Amino acid sequence: MSRFLAPARGKLVPYTPGEQPRDRRYVKLNTNESPFPPPPEVAEAARAAAAEGNLYPDPRCTELRAALAASLGVIPEEVTVGNGSDEILNFAFLAFCDGAHPAVFPDVTYGFYPVFADLNGVPYRTVPLEEDFSVDPMKYAGTEGTLFLANPNAPTGIALSPEEVERILRRDPDRVVVLDEAYVDFGARTCVPLIRKYENLLVTRTFSKSRSMAGARLGYAAGQPELIRDLETVRYSTNPYNLDRATMASGIASLRNDAYNRENCRTVARVREEVRSELGALGFETTDSAANFLFARHPEMEGGALYRALRARGILVRHFDAPRISDYNRITVGTRDQMDVLVSALRAILTECETDEKR
Ligand code: PMP
Repeated sequence: MSRFLAPARGKLVPYTPGEQPRDRRYVKLNTNESPFPPPPEVAEAARAAAAEGNLYPDPRCTELRAALAASLGVIPEEVTVGNGSDEILNFAFLAFCDGAHPAVFPDVTYGFYPVFADLNGVPYRTVPLEEDFSVDPMKYAGTEGTLFLANPNAPTGIALSPEEVERILRRDPDRVVVLDEAYVDFGARTCVPLIRKYENLLVTRTFSKSRSMAGARLGYAAGQPELIRDLETVRYSTNPYNLDRATMASGIASLRNDAYNRENCRTVARVREEVRSELGALGFETTDSAANFLFARHPEMEGGALYRALRARGILVRHFDAPRISDYNRITVGTRDQMDVLVSALRAILTECETDEKR
C-alpha cells in the first residue's frame, strides 16, 4: 500500500477471482464458465465491430437493449447493460445504498457483495442461511436496506421459486430487492416477469455463463423504468462507454442464436445431474443445485485437502476457506469428458485416502 492510498480504501479486502494458473494445462472447473465456445456468429460479429474501433460505441446501447428487451418480453426502458453483471451489481450498490442506507444479504452468498459494500462505504448485515443452506424468505422481513439475493444462490446452487421471491417483495415494498440471476438458465425460474408487478424488483443477469461469453464481459438488469434510470444515472456518471463495440455486437449475435445456447444449458443441467449421482455413489453430499456447478463435501475428507489433491492432479475446483462452507468444494459442470476426468480423480484420491488410513 502506498502512503497515498485514501484512508477510506485502506482496509479494503478485494474480491479474489478464481485462480488462472499458467504452469500447466488444467481441467478448469473453478470459475463457472461454460465449457462450450460461443457460436461462430458471435466471433464474426465481434470482428466486424472491432473494424470500426476508431469510433466510440453507442453510449445508449440502443440495438443491444432493444434485442435484450425483445428476448425478455419487456421494453428497452426496462433494461440497462454493464461490463459483466458485476458492474451492474456495483451500480446497484451506488444507486440504492450509501452510508445511511445499508445492504442485506445471506451469510453464505456471492463474495463480491461485501466487497462492493465496503468499496462504497455501505454498512451491511448478513442473514444466516438455514442449516441446509436454503434461504428462508421470512428471515428477511423487517431487515433494513437493499436486499441482494443470488438466485440460484452461489456457491450453494440452491434456488428460490418466484412465489417465494414474491413473498419478500410483497412484504417489504419500500426496499429494493436485487435478484442476481447469474445462474438462472440452468434450472431455476426467472423472476423477470415480476418486474411489471413490483416497482422494487431489479433482476440482474449475465452472458458469462449460459451464453458462453465470460470473456466478453456483458451483463444486464431488468426493472421498472424509474429503477433503470437510477442505474443509468450511475452508469453515465462513471463510464457511459462501459460496453465496447465488439461486446455489444457479440451480445446481439448471441441473442440471435438462442437455440444453441439453450441446448448447451440443457446439456450442462443433464451432466450436472449425472455427476451429482456419481458423486453420491462415492459418498459425497451435494446440495440441490439448479446452477452450472455442484457444491460437494465428503465426510472423510477435509475440503481444502480435497481441493489440493485435485489441483495436484491438474483439476481446478473452488474451495472457500470461509465459515460454514470450508468442508465443501464448488465444482463447475464442464463437458462430460471433463467430468469423467474429475470423477476418476476423486475415486483415486478417496482410495488413496482409505489406504493411508489403513497403514
Ligand atoms: N453473480 C454471481 C452469483 C456470480 O457468481 C458471478 C460470477 N462470478 C457474477 C454475478 C458476475 O458475473 P459476470 O460479472 O461475469 O456477469
